[in-house]
Amino acid sequence: MNTDAVKLLQGRYCNSLTEYSRFVTREVNIGDVPMGGNNPIRIQSMTTTDTMDTIGTVEQSIRMVDAGCEYVRITAPSIKEAQNLAEIKKQLRQRGYNVPLVADIHFTPNAAEVAARIVEKVRVNPGNYADKKKFDQIDYTDQEYQGELERIYKKFAPLVNICKEYGTAMRIGTNHGSLSDRIMSRYGDTPQGMVESAMEFMRMCETLNYYNLVISMKSSNPQVMVQAYRLLVDTMVAEGMNYPLHLGVTEAGDGEDGRIKSAVGIGTLLEDGLGDTVRVSLTEEPEAEAPVAIELVRRYTERKAESEKQKAEETIDHRPWTMDKTPHNPYEYKKRHTYEANAFIGGHMVPRVVVDLSAKNLKDPAVLKDAGYLYSPLLDKYNMAEQSVDFVYLADELPSFVFPSNLKQLYNYNTWQKLTDKTNCHPVFSLAEYIAPGTDRSSKLNLVRILPADMDSDEFGSLPFDNSLVFVLETEALHGMADQRSFFFKLEELGLEIPVIVKRSYEFEKDHGPSTIDHGQTDLTTKLQLYAATDLGALLVDGFGDGIWIDAPELPANVITSTAFGILQATRSRISKTEYISCPSCGRTLFDLMVTTQMIRSRTSHLKGLKIGIMGCIVNGPGEMADADYGYVGSGTDKVTLYRGKEAVKKNISSVNALDELIGIIKEDGNWVEQEQA
Ligand code: SF4
Repeated sequence: MNTDAVKLLQGRYCNSLTEYSRFVTREVNIGDVPMGGNNPIRIQSMTTTDTMDTIGTVEQSIRMVDAGCEYVRITAPSIKEAQNLAEIKKQLRQRGYNVPLVADIHFTPNAAEVAARIVEKVRVNPGNYADKKKFDQIDYTDQEYQGELERIYKKFAPLVNICKEYGTAMRIGTNHGSLSDRIMSRYGDTPQGMVESAMEFMRMCETLNYYNLVISMKSSNPQVMVQAYRLLVDTMVAEGMNYPLHLGVTEAGDGEDGRIKSAVGIGTLLEDGLGDTVRVSLTEEPEAEAPVAIELVRRYTERKAESEKQKAEETIDHRPWTMDKTPHNPYEYKKRHTYEANAFIGGHMVPRVVVDLSAKNLKDPAVLKDAGYLYSPLLDKYNMAEQSVDFVYLADELPSFVFPSNLKQLYNYNTWQKLTDKTNCHPVFSLAEYIAPGTDRSSKLNLVRILPADMDSDEFGSLPFDNSLVFVLETEALHGMADQRSFFFKLEELGLEIPVIVKRSYEFEKDHGPSTIDHGQTDLTTKLQLYAATDLGALLVDGFGDGIWIDAPELPANVITSTAFGILQATRSRISKTEYISCPSCGRTLFDLMVTTQMIRSRTSHLKGLKIGIMGCIVNGPGEMADADYGYVGSGTDKVTLYRGKEAVKKNISSVNALDELIGIIKEDGNWVEQEQA
């Protein structure tokens, strides 16, 4: 996108860069649970049962509703499943569940036309509604392109007319991995291509005077997904549209990875005030998804109330940043340019990780295990794990053992100053300490704690700048991400290339009331994953931050370390493990996704940096796994097709040997290492 286009676009995707303000969309009726406008952000999920299994689908839907789902999506791969939606709906209503149902359609307009007469909403994928993807990079002339649109209109208009007649809503759900050849030929698999893919269908709906639309822009890469949604809003506003947004990261995976990846994508957009409904896609039971989505959304319900209160009391700090003034392009990733602070942090180095061990037992070398350094008493040496932190903060506590040479220790300035051996030890200053006359600064690395508001202070003006200075950016604001983001904007405007470690602190029990997730250790872990991935991920996806520091005294250090590296992995800013792009499964799934994912993970989790797609069906799987290096895709009962990138290299092999065969392909490519070596 050229710079002029960017300038024109900036200013529309987000109401405010400094205070929480929800982008108000058109209200859309979906059964008796409306979405958009001033309605709450809705929670939804999708069944994984065979749609022909009426009882199984009804019972799973009930479990989902009981877990908090306000809409239930069910796949309708062909006419017979679409017809069976009537039976499922009937049985749900008989059991007292009025939850609106959504039919999920790929490739089958005839199934969509049946379903639209039965359920409250249909989801169509503009990449495959009237197109079969051939992965051909054909060049389209303007005339051919227009001809294609006319062909699609003829296929799509009957569905729109049925929706109008029956009061059925529609989601136009673009997926990064399944753009049509037509879109690919003109825009590539870019956020702009994703937006145009939906806009073509939205314009057709408006031509037919149909406005009951919800839009999504999903990708398994949170960075792409965030840019696509922002660009979509911008484009909609330019064309006078304001349809509700369905937020989701596709194929996010399971466990910690799935939660963190989802929070980075969904949370970033919620921070921007975007989103009317959320679906978290996990390779787990569908009822496990709603509590995660609820927890993500809950922060904004509270924030809205709180920011309204602050507005009334005039305690909100109004910073001058508006979309048209920001020096930052929110539609393209560009890492903020910083200097390298004497080979410790910044420049082209991957973001650094800081963990606080000051409250731990610093008499025992085993304490460093939580920071990724495994001590062997026999050999009296440390081994580094894949996720070894770069700095530990010890405040004023002195360890009684020798640290590994590559692990840097951070001390409060007064304590650091008194150390007799300062090798590998660095000071952390307050702003006042750093500028005070006679301060003893390190010649190598000085960390200075700072709040965004400090930038307007006299102290900031008298900061001595040299390549040893690194900021530790904290925040006290309710809308902390925006507060910290404004600091980066100001640095950019002032032309200051000082590296910044972004620090966020969480005290869950103190800060929050009752949770939707049960209380206990696991729940706090989940909260940390979701909150930190939102707050820090939202900055990292925009290229802000040379390091991260998560402070959560209620949680063990190993959880904090793992969360920090998970966030860096999800934002693709520092790769420390294998990435699994596994689909959440649905009625098309041809194998047990959870079991298979665990099986593949158990033999490949040491292949740092590889992206492995695990997809339940060949209809959508290859497209959906987008940028995976290898793919394991269900292609029939007990049959699997293996992919190298987008190419199917072993077709319909027995699922018994499929994992061995996959490992064989990885070995052939020279990408295999033995577990012990790793
Ligand atoms: S890739 Fe997975 S979730 Fe998507 S349609 Fe196929 S089985 Fe269903």
